[in-house]
Amino acid sequence: MIDFKSILEDIKQQISLVEDKGNVADYIPELKNVNKNAFGVYLNVLKNDNFGVGDYQTKFSTQSITKVLTLALAVAKKTDDVWKRVDVEPSGNPFNFLTLLEVENGIPRNPFINSGAIVIADILVSELENPKEGFLDFIRQITNDQSIDYDYKVAASEKETGFKNYAIANLLKSFGNLKNDVDTVLDFYFMQCSLAMTCEQITNAFYLFANKGKCLQDKLHITSSQAKRINAIMLTCGFYDEAGEFAFEVGLPGKSGVGGGIVALLPNKFVISVWSPGLNKKGNSKLGMQALELFTSKTELSIF
Ligand code: GLN
Repeated sequence: MIDFKSILEDIKQQISLVEDKGNVADYIPELKNVNKNAFGVYLNVLKNDNFGVGDYQTKFSTQSITKVLTLALAVAKKTDDVWKRVDVEPSGNPFNFLTLLEVENGIPRNPFINSGAIVIADILVSELENPKEGFLDFIRQITNDQSIDYDYKVAASEKETGFKNYAIANLLKSFGNLKNDVDTVLDFYFMQCSLAMTCEQITNAFYLFANKGKCLQDKLHITSSQAKRINAIMLTCGFYDEAGEFAFEVGLPGKSGVGGGIVALLPNKFVISVWSPGLNKKGNSKLGMQALELFTSKTELSIF
């Protein structure tokens, strides 16, 4: 039997000794106000037990982690259309890179770079009567947690400085790959990115990807084939131009956000979320990656 609790305590201890904690994202001004020393981990071992260490019950900005959740809702609603409008190839470029989108005629490389997530946001704007409420409702259902909400200050802050995302949305629109108007889609996109959750809540939300589409309450939200495919995209595209490095070091499908969160999972085995706000040069949590590398090394649990 693996002693998960003491492994997580060891990781917390080892990580606390690392001096260079990376840099907190500041291109969204509101994200600057985060304590760089915060660190939390929450693990759910399927059909077994849960373990949390550190600040695992503190809410933070999930940012791009939500791209997996909007994708799940979009494929659940409208399976066929999604893959005509977004590809499933790694981009090898930063999350907000523009050039590739023009070269590839407005078809984003994958749903986890910003252009792809903005197309998914557009699909949800078309599909849901009230996208902000509908998406929040989905998150509250899969987590069975009514306390989860958007952070309106973060959404407003990103909107004020979201020039690159406006450029991306306008480029998508010029290629006919945005059905709704730019402002409406981006208002929803900024809102989804502002979703504030704890490590515990993120782990609970991602349970369905490790559990063949069934959430913690055993309700089926996406098919097991859809879960398999989303996990594949997390492995190949979840960390932008660091997806190879994450597979190399950690060896799990996962997704990061510039709020410093990372969620990763081993299908049928576990879901783990970690939060450390300092980012590396590629925009992924520096210590979060190290913590997960330690976790899969110490437990010898990875997909490889
Ligand atoms: N909201 C952020 C943006 O669009 C999300 C980026 C991220 O978390 N990687 O720039």
